[in-house]
Amino acid sequence: MRRIQPYQATKTYLCPGCNQDIPPGLGHLVVVPRGAPDLRRHWHHGCWANRSSRRPGRHAPR
Ligand SMILES: [Zn+2]
Repeated sequence: MRRIQPYQATKTYLCPGCNQDIPPGLGHLVVVPRGAPDLRRHWHHGCWANRSSRRPGRHAPR
């Protein structure tokens, strides 16, 4: 997981946590699956935090 600073965000991304846009200039997180660097996902900080707090210390079965 990488943290993108606001000045690095130059495009609009779709957050898979809330299905809403991450506008340019907004700091967010980039999540890259291990071994699949092409499958990057851009998340709002809050959406990522909420996602991981639902299943503390566990991975979803899928
Ligand atoms: Zn979001």
